[in-house]
Amino acid sequence: MKPVKSSVLQQCLWSGSGLSELCPTIAAANPDTEAVIANSITALIAMKNDGTAYDQIGKITDHSLKTLGATGWFGISIPREFGGCSANTHELMLGITKIAAAGFATEAGLNGIHTDLGAPDKLIHHGNQWQKAQFLPALASGERLSALAATEPCAGTNLAALETTAQRDGEHYIINGSKLFIGNAWPSELIGRTIALLARVPEEGPDSYAIFIVEVLAKDIKVIPAGTEIPADTEGYIVVPHGKDGGHGFHAIRQARNTGLAFRNLRVPAVNRIEGNGLKHTYEGLNPGRIAVLANAAGAMRMILRLIAPNAWGKYRESFGKPIEERELIKTRIARLAALIVGADALRNFCSSQLDSGDRFGLSCIIAKIFGSEAISEAAIDLGLMTAGGRGFLHGHPIGDNLADFLAGRIYDGQNDMLRQKFLAELMAPHVELLKPLSQDMKALSKGRLAGLRIVKSAAAYLGWKAKQTLRSFKLRSSVKLNHAGLQEHVKFAEALLPKLSKEVSAAMMKHGAKLGDRQNVLIRLSQRVQDALIIVITAGHADKTGDEATIAAADILCRDLRRRLTGAAADECYDRACVRLAELVTAGKFSELEGAAETPIFRAYEKK
Ligand SMILES: Cc1cc2nc3c(=O)[nH]c(=O)nc-3n(C[C@H](O)[C@H](O)[C@H](O)COP(=O)(O)OP(=O)(O)OC[C@H]3O[C@@H](n4cnc5c(N)ncnc54)[C@H](O)[C@@H]3O)c2cc1C
Repeated sequence: MKPVKSSVLQQCLWSGSGLSELCPTIAAANPDTEAVIANSITALIAMKNDGTAYDQIGKITDHSLKTLGATGWFGISIPREFGGCSANTHELMLGITKIAAAGFATEAGLNGIHTDLGAPDKLIHHGNQWQKAQFLPALASGERLSALAATEPCAGTNLAALETTAQRDGEHYIINGSKLFIGNAWPSELIGRTIALLARVPEEGPDSYAIFIVEVLAKDIKVIPAGTEIPADTEGYIVVPHGKDGGHGFHAIRQARNTGLAFRNLRVPAVNRIEGNGLKHTYEGLNPGRIAVLANAAGAMRMILRLIAPNAWGKYRESFGKPIEERELIKTRIARLAALIVGADALRNFCSSQLDSGDRFGLSCIIAKIFGSEAISEAAIDLGLMTAGGRGFLHGHPIGDNLADFLAGRIYDGQNDMLRQKFLAELMAPHVELLKPLSQDMKALSKGRLAGLRIVKSAAAYLGWKAKQTLRSFKLRSSVKLNHAGLQEHVKFAEALLPKLSKEVSAAMMKHGAKLGDRQNVLIRLSQRVQDALIIVITAGHADKTGDEATIAAADILCRDLRRRLTGAAADECYDRACVRLAELVTAGKFSELEGAAETPIFRAYEKK
């Protein structure tokens, strides 16, 4: 893959030139990958029905993981030559959405951990030929699953503060340290683990980090519960569960295992070290991992909407003489859910295509992660739970049972407000680069060390760029051509707003200078405004391509919502009517996005008079 030179999103803000790339045409998925996904769903439904999918404490069974391995789900993205299916990012993400929509969000998300965060991503992108041949086949067949062991008690948001060390000892590295919150890292008798472990290598300098591929089997590990002193003579890979219930005290992703780890003189062959900067590799792997959060949300939101409509709880539940789905309030919730689903689909397609075209910048992945994780928490809590009423809290209800799962995405893979700041900082990079020579020249001039001509040149370069920015505001024709007039109108709004936002960003840079990094609220607000403008174009472009009435209506609702957030305007009756029309399409079964979404029985059904 050829890396692109600058991010499309940077171009959108600073020159407007990337806008048409926000609405990519997506190639049809490969039939082989579609078959893997369809077979995985069939197998999962069969295991759920025959009671073999989950154990007594609700964890996914090894039998289920083994079966998913056999269907090819865990190898879907691994190159064919190593036993996988060579799916691209888009195909993997579409699979995650479909499996989550079918009611298996954890099984879908596990592949994000395994493939993107874990060893396959590091091996495929940075491994040497021997490492690929050595480790990938077992990861493709599901004989081994993978995890990323990065977070530590002292290093979460600031991962660079981690303290685990790797010290060279002949043909091995000796690893010492501990990790926290690690999903999928506990091997069982049936399935081994291949961990991507991030550690410092102090002998190579204070900022040297590396990824080590660590293979573990159940027989190799020691289990020592948190709070218990690790005996001095214990060596190797130690699992440190934090809870008493076998669930390790973690509310989120409750169907999977998540635990602490400790390493005491763990010996890892030196050939298992991945070449290059391990911290950078970890951050890069977070990019597809962030799209996976969104892809999973796109699926789980389908499951939530399907709980309500069509022909579901919203129709069954009557209150004051009418099914609740006939009320304006519930219609507005149904419409908002449909809108969030279409927005998530649009972002999944755009972001995957960015990665598939070689963009490892990750800006688009940040938008995806923030949108997806906030959409699913709104969908679950404000829309789904509120509509389910008290039944939503019953054991076994898919919303009540998974509340922590629906919220946790806002924290893992980068907490959202921290990501908003990172997004803006990266977006500003081209402007910062342009300003650098001018500010250096000004400093030199103030010290009497510079000829006037040089500063005139750097000032002219900067002002020329600024003038181009200003001219952009007068551009009359849209660079994104859509068929649907209403969606085109939304795009026009965003296109007119982006140059203004670029000025707001420049003004903040000028006002706060080097201290802008400390003005976190300013960064967060600006970042979200830019993201909202971009999401409008991405969603409108996606829906327009489908030509589908309900999809277009859903995109229209999301664009209206985002525009109101950007302008501070209040919703009006025209908006209410648009929601009602969209909800009626959904309740009439015309929202094709719900195809394949799990149908959940009514909880505590009662005899209707
Ligand atoms: C369900 C789940 C699964 C996970 N799975 C894995 C895994 O498989 N592998 C792995 O390595 N890790 C995993 N993690 C860890 C996850 O990546 C971290 O929780 C995340 O990076 C945040 O780190 P932290 O929890 O230590 O938060 P902290 O670093 O303690 O931060 C707490 C909060 O403080 C605020 N904050 C932090 N720094 C700043 C700052 N500079 N300015 C302002 N505010 C700040 C933010 O709001 C932040 O959320 C998982 C976490 C969860 C919840």
